[in-house]
Amino acid sequence: MITLTIDGQEIQVTEGRTILEAAREHRFPIPTLCYHEALAPFAACRMCVVELENRRGGQLVPACAYPCEEGLIVRTNSEKVRRSRRMTIELLMASAAHVPLIRAMAEELGVTTPRFTMEPDDCILCGLCVRACEEIVGVGAISVINRGIEKKVSPPFRIASNACIECGTCVLVCPTGAITLADITGGTQTVHPWESEFEAVDCRVCGHHYLAPELAEHTALLAEAEAGP
Ligand code: SF4
Repeated sequence: MITLTIDGQEIQVTEGRTILEAAREHRFPIPTLCYHEALAPFAACRMCVVELENRRGGQLVPACAYPCEEGLIVRTNSEKVRRSRRMTIELLMASAAHVPLIRAMAEELGVTTPRFTMEPDDCILCGLCVRACEEIVGVGAISVINRGIEKKVSPPFRIASNACIECGTCVLVCPTGAITLADITGGTQTVHPWESEFEAVDCRVCGHHYLAPELAEHTALLAEAEAGP
């Protein structure tokens, strides 16, 4: 076991835990945006920064990716932490001030009017959808492409866009509602900012009109199932 101090309280956690996991286990709230417990830490959004008390006098680190160490002294809500989170949320508000989650986080941090403005966009580029597609579904159909203000989530190549099977996993992890499920002819289909390029067909097994991609390997599996043992 490792002993560390969070907000003045000494706690013990098993080795290998991150500060975020330890803090949540002991009910210290830390806000997150690009973190999902089913995915590897990404440390991109910087909302989960905490302050470490050390010889350098207060270092900010992302709690989602920083491992617990023996004797660590952590502050989850110091002025330095709140200042950093306020800047992060202000930058996010530049394009996503209309997103309820972002507004709520800003309110919690006392930010009302952002100093920066950009074209409104539901997507905050947290990367959760991309990582879920890669790590959970194992497809890797989408990616964050371009740089700077041109950055967006999209299939990187034509071949990858064909790989999207409209499973909707990205919908489940998206924190802002940038990707949603729409009802289409009695079934559901993901509505996302990128284009998928596959022939959608009705399900031939259950008879319902759930849309599914007609991929060569699926067709082969179906034929095998229909042929029986
Ligand atoms: S679409 Fe949603 S999950 Fe994907 S990067 Fe944008 S905000 Fe994150």
